[in-house]
Amino acid sequence: MYKNITCKNALNRLNSNYLPFRWDLNIFRGCEHRCSYCYALYSHEYLQGGDFFRDIFIKENIVEALEQKLRSPFWKRETINLGGVTDSYQPIERQKQFMPEILRLLIRYRTPATISTKSALILRDLDLFEELARVAGADIAFSITTLDENIYKKTEPASAPPPKRFAALREIAKTNIRCGVLCMPILPFLTDSRANLEEVFRLTQESGGNYIYAGLLNLRGPTRGHFLHFIKENFSELYPRYCAHYESRAARAPYRKTIYALLSDLRQVYPLKYKAEPIQGGAEQMELF
Ligand code: SF4
Repeated sequence: MYKNITCKNALNRLNSNYLPFRWDLNIFRGCEHRCSYCYALYSHEYLQGGDFFRDIFIKENIVEALEQKLRSPFWKRETINLGGVTDSYQPIERQKQFMPEILRLLIRYRTPATISTKSALILRDLDLFEELARVAGADIAFSITTLDENIYKKTEPASAPPPKRFAALREIAKTNIRCGVLCMPILPFLTDSRANLEEVFRLTQESGGNYIYAGLLNLRGPTRGHFLHFIKENFSELYPRYCAHYESRAARAPYRKTIYALLSDLRQVYPLKYKAEPIQGGAEQMELF
């Protein structure tokens, strides 16, 4: 179900010291990509309930609201993250075409942007991202954690398959746009083997990505129940292990140490960037693992 809504503000101010941007823009509430581990389920709790994956709220005035913000004399042209709690290139965007309008505004107001997606639809707007990269700065990341078909078809049933995401990354890497891979969340006992992670690192490098940021799975808020239920239904043999693993932070400490060591090892082998840097100015840096 799609429902049109209006927003007062196009941008949400973020107060995290760990992120290299301060502003977040979400065209939609909810996301049709249906990732089993989706961290953004909480964002539907503020609306009239509904199913995060099936009840998609569309901010029909998002372009006008953004222009109102950008044309303000107080706008400092700080980096905007395009889709903190939804994928801006989920299927409905093919028809709605908000993103080209948003990118034209960012170009006009010389405002840098960063985006992560699981859709190859972003290639439709590549010329606009290139122009934005020229005039202000642009960064595109694909979220990819595995090439294992059995796993990604279950965990990310409605996104572009990872080989297609890598193919899109190769196209973007030919341009002036900073690009890379978010290898997160790494799923315990499913995508955390050296062979799996090394394949993602290797393909990121071969595709011409500038960076790879990795991160472990956190189960907070409604994501916890949703994901554990998914494991019970789809990987039942792992369910008891998952329950024990997510019992407490202390229970996961030795595991975290092992995975961080593995990631550090891969960092030595693959000369990519591992720290998120601001697109323009500033000294902020985010260590993701
Ligand atoms: S693409 Fe992102 S927002 Fe959409 S379902 Fe997957 S994790 Fe959630």
